[in-house]
Amino acid sequence: MFNLKTECTDESGQLNARCGELETMHGTIHTPAFMPVATKAYVKTVTPEEMIEQGTQVIIANSFLIYLRPGLEIIKDAGGLHKFMNWSKPIFTDSGGFQMIRPDFHAKVDDHGITFQSPFDGTKHIFTPEKCVDIQVELGVDVAMMLDHCPKYGSNLEEIKIAAEHTTDWAKRSLAALEHLRDTSSSRRHMPLLFGIVQGGTDVLQRQWSARTMTVLDFDGFGIGGLSIGEPKEKMYEALKEQVPLLPEDRVRYLMGVGSPEDVLECIAIGVDLFDSVFPTRNARHGTVHTKNGNLNINRAPYSKQFIPLDEDCGCLTCTAGFTRAYINHLLKNHSILGMRFTTIHNLYFLQQLVRIAKERISEGTFHEFKDEFVKKFRKRSNR
Ligand SMILES: [Zn+2]
Repeated sequence: MFNLKTECTDESGQLNARCGELETMHGTIHTPAFMPVATKAYVKTVTPEEMIEQGTQVIIANSFLIYLRPGLEIIKDAGGLHKFMNWSKPIFTDSGGFQMIRPDFHAKVDDHGITFQSPFDGTKHIFTPEKCVDIQVELGVDVAMMLDHCPKYGSNLEEIKIAAEHTTDWAKRSLAALEHLRDTSSSRRHMPLLFGIVQGGTDVLQRQWSARTMTVLDFDGFGIGGLSIGEPKEKMYEALKEQVPLLPEDRVRYLMGVGSPEDVLECIAIGVDLFDSVFPTRNARHGTVHTKNGNLNINRAPYSKQFIPLDEDCGCLTCTAGFTRAYINHLLKNHSILGMRFTTIHNLYFLQQLVRIAKERISEGTFHEFKDEFVKKFRKRSNR
């Protein structure tokens, strides 16, 4: 369950950043929080121990991809997803709804659910809201996400409307499926928290409709889906400003798929509590590192002669151990996995540090000033 602890309102009185605590089976998550993405039950290049060292409280995996490979039997034999991964803190799993917009899954949707093609062997799989809940219960995760219908960016109003209607209908079926499992399973079996997902594209009225119809349902928290999929940033902020205030205050608000440093702060300001994204890890492997003075592309020639850390005041394992920009530039030029590890460790630490500072500033009542200052400096000096 979620306990709202502190709020920090901006000068206009319109934006409201929050601190809270989400209690789960594997521990309490202090929000705002960022979840590294372990799509296939691993975060690329880093170990669970390293993630904990960076300040990671919770990760998110993808139930659909894990269901395909290694498959539920292996996870069950391992004693659940936590044991399989050797990760002792909370795990969220996404349902597979997001894979709908990826062309390699060849998704087809009807009222019943979604048919996907496995990217591994081309086999077809029908995913219904009920099956998604079953799988996530079998995985033994802390928080399960319902199956949603995520419309592609650029969908017309009719398509956005159908997707929002499907999502609300599937929400009711997901809750009923979890209730059924609760009634029929042994009392010792632990059930995950279940989050609904609001949709609506970038259409303000659809966003409002989706929030109103979803929030009457008894979910433990709400994912905000269908954003950060190609729309201009301003459209995303606009949609959030319309939808977030309609979500219940006493439930976690999780913005799915957003994780650039400036977006995380802008969205915390709007009242979002939780984030996940491959952004910091994927960028790291391609040589983009986050610093308080903006993003650096460490592949660029000038860095090959800089014998200083990626970010001088950074407390991450890479920077404190003395690895330099010049050395990491050399490693990445040679496509070294070690170089990718160093940049990934740094970027994940940066994000965890950023949400930790945000939390402190919300408690002190100075978050909005901090956010404005950080974003201004970060945007101005990025992409050098
Ligand atoms: Zn660092």
